[in-house]
Amino acid sequence: MVNINSSVEEELKNFKEISYKLGSNKNLVQAAGGNTSIKLDDSMFIKASGTWLEDSLKKDIFVEVNLKSIQKKISNDVDDNFVEDIISNNDLRPSTETSFHALLKFKYVLHVHSTSIIANAVYVNSEKLLKQKLGKDIVFVPYIRPGVPLTNLMKSIIKSDTQIIILENHGLIVAGDSLERTYDLLIETHDKLDQVYNDSCPLYDIDDEVEVTDYIFKNTEKYRIFQTSDKKLLEIFSKSLYPDHVIFLGPGVPVFKSSDDANKFNSEMKKKEIKPPPFLIIEKYGLFESNSCIDAAREMMDCFIEILLRVQLDNEIKYFTQNQENELLNWDAEIYRQTIN
Ligand SMILES: [Zn+2]
Repeated sequence: MVNINSSVEEELKNFKEISYKLGSNKNLVQAAGGNTSIKLDDSMFIKASGTWLEDSLKKDIFVEVNLKSIQKKISNDVDDNFVEDIISNNDLRPSTETSFHALLKFKYVLHVHSTSIIANAVYVNSEKLLKQKLGKDIVFVPYIRPGVPLTNLMKSIIKSDTQIIILENHGLIVAGDSLERTYDLLIETHDKLDQVYNDSCPLYDIDDEVEVTDYIFKNTEKYRIFQTSDKKLLEIFSKSLYPDHVIFLGPGVPVFKSSDDANKFNSEMKKKEIKPPPFLIIEKYGLFESNSCIDAAREMMDCFIEILLRVQLDNEIKYFTQNQENELLNWDAEIYRQTIN
């Protein structure tokens, strides 16, 4: 006789292992970004808001929620944070992206902010290019604020057998009933698009030093791209491309002509009691990191570098508008997520 409880335990254990594997690959998941879920009858276990997938094995980061109740809310277009649907009592809130996990009928849903996917999902003609590279079965969802608005849009686009969904200016969702095959499909999709184009961009020669108060100059090889003289790359630095970019790095990384301009800007910010940005750029010199920069912002900067390396500069890029940035920065659920980080 099969012991039902032990097979559920086994499924949860394997699910947490895959969640950990995704979370420890920084080209797939950065900081508290990305989320995974498993459906077990009328329940769903989903990553909690603000927690890091890389902690899947060492901490309790999953919340059990009432799947049926959430699905009912989705079919009635109810915008909700699903706090009322929590079954577990670990004081965690379900991910801000819970609704699309519940919408997809497959047992497993894995969502990542893959650097290769994002780099390919920020062009004006991304949908066409992605379908050429990945095949016609993938579904491309135009950008909309994550959370219930995104789920409502997905509802009108996906089919019941859709397994690969690419979210414009955001990331990748892969769903399936076999954990291993779903994971493999995710890795395969990421790998197919994983190509570096900008690792030998032209650089400015600098022979002097600049200093910015309360900032450290990041002048190692890894940050060299910010010393570029390539006009197209320079244009991207101060723009924003995907939700976590805005949330952790601010609406674009500010670019200044001189350290005087940067110092002036920061003292103005202090006067207004606004926190200075975690990173800033001085043209020709490169990137500077604030002394008060948090780990999540550092991971997001690494992610931004990986995306910059993979963006094809000949393609027209779609940046966030100021309204889209504001909508992300004022969103209550996001404010909660940032507070517990
Ligand atoms: Zn996401």
